[in-house]
Amino acid sequence: MYDVVIVGGGVVGAAVAYELCNYRLRIALVEMEEELSFGVSKANSGIIHPGTQNPSDSLKGRLCVEGNRLVREMAEPLGLDFAEVGELIVAFHEDEIAHLWHLKREAEDCGVSGLQIVSREWLRDNEPNLNPDAVAALLAPTAGIISPYRFVYALSGEARLNGVEVHTSTEVLSIATGTGVSGKDARGFVILTTTGEFATKCLINCAGLYADDIARMVGLRDVCIRPRKGEEYILDKKRRYLTRHLLFPVPTPESKGILVTRTADGNPMIGPTAYEVEDKEDLSTTDEGLRQVLSVAQRLVPAIDPCDIIAYFAGLRPATGDDFVIRHEEEVPGFINVAGIQSPGLTAAPAIAKHVASHLESAGVTMTRKRRRRRDRSRTFHLFSMALSDAKDLVKEDPECGDIVCRCETVSLREVKQAIGDGATTLDGVKFRTRAGAGRCHGSFCTCRILQVLAEETGRPVTAISKRGKGSELVVSDRTDG
Ligand SMILES: Cc1cc2nc3c(=O)[nH]c(=O)nc-3n(C[C@H](O)[C@H](O)[C@H](O)COP(=O)(O)OP(=O)(O)OC[C@H]3O[C@@H](n4cnc5c(N)ncnc54)[C@H](O)[C@@H]3O)c2cc1C
Repeated sequence: MYDVVIVGGGVVGAAVAYELCNYRLRIALVEMEEELSFGVSKANSGIIHPGTQNPSDSLKGRLCVEGNRLVREMAEPLGLDFAEVGELIVAFHEDEIAHLWHLKREAEDCGVSGLQIVSREWLRDNEPNLNPDAVAALLAPTAGIISPYRFVYALSGEARLNGVEVHTSTEVLSIATGTGVSGKDARGFVILTTTGEFATKCLINCAGLYADDIARMVGLRDVCIRPRKGEEYILDKKRRYLTRHLLFPVPTPESKGILVTRTADGNPMIGPTAYEVEDKEDLSTTDEGLRQVLSVAQRLVPAIDPCDIIAYFAGLRPATGDDFVIRHEEEVPGFINVAGIQSPGLTAAPAIAKHVASHLESAGVTMTRKRRRRRDRSRTFHLFSMALSDAKDLVKEDPECGDIVCRCETVSLREVKQAIGDGATTLDGVKFRTRAGAGRCHGSFCTCRILQVLAEETGRPVTAISKRGKGSELVVSDRTDG
């Protein structure tokens, strides 16, 4: 019998696991994909928002500001790839400046600090590639960028180290409530999954796009997820100095708008679009999306060249209404819904987790804090962000650090093996942790080698190794007899 089962291994489920491992609880996290962070949390802009663009009376507004503070606080101890680069919301007309003052006041009401309206001259000096037609901007210095998947792996790695069981390739199929557990505990659940049953006192639904399906399994029908697609376009790293800050247009009620940002690994990125789709699996990009993204991004930074685009993807925001839905469902005691976690869910995740923890007592869970918590998780290194002299020392110590598997992103054999040791079982799992395969050649050079290393290190045949889980295997047969 578990005290808590968390359904969903995205950033929200991982953050909840990270928070709850402070308590003496038996916890399991179940995830249907082969690895964590393969849902919405892998496909987003990677921005730690300061909290400038949410209504001050909303839950997401409050949790965004708190999440921003928490991420900045945990970046160093957790070894997160986080950089506080600041954001500019840019006005092109005098009449938009009033809107900037309105955003500033609302953000200050939410507790955002350091905000400043900056002039055309300031912009010319501090953001040289910004369109010279810009007349003013709202500067939010606490905005940052992070690697979203490495954030999830850091949170879940710490949770695992502190006793949380993580079960991947484990899809929740149905849930029995109440007497299903022991015959006398009306609060419990028995969760039937593809890998067996989990009995628990409390169930936390962090299933992202499928949170409504999980809620329906316990008879709750008032949450309905309506996916809102965002297309993103990644530029070559050689343009990494294109901008200094994150650049946003003045937002509309539907969206923060298409922006110019960069990934934590240094690639400029433009997007996302925002439009509703029916299909929760529709991750296609479109010509219209590209046109729309380019036209807004080039208005912000005219030097953006479509020839610099090296990759693109789409993500789906798991939206339900305008705000997050986080509540203990009184009709189903012990069931906590964490649904509708659209943007800024990546930012808010650590604050969402604390909010969830505050609901656990009423969900029937006794919360006793552990006296000690382990913090000795092994850290990874990234050759691509290392000074040459340090890299040389590393290679002297360990020749595998000099065996370069991915040339575009300078990823060594040691890093690939470290990623596998950290839990990567797929090509995407290795890519998300190390960047191997994420460069301009899209893995043409390194895919075969990584497949081979994955097979050797995990002791599985190469035919069992996939790009992102079952159904995406690359090698059909390893027969060599012709
Ligand atoms: C284009 C785009 C850009 C964005 N940009 C930003 C940004 O810059 N900053 C920001 O703060 N936020 C951003 N967001 C929002 C952010 O990405 C999400 O809020 C966040 O990733 C949601 O995390 P999650 O854990 O709730 O969902 P997910 O990551 O989807 O996790 C849910 C998990 O549940 C699993 N699951 C579902 N059903 C089952 C089942 N039956 N059994 C077992 N497991 C199941 C899924 O496989 C999935 O892994 C963006 C979103 C999009 C789409």
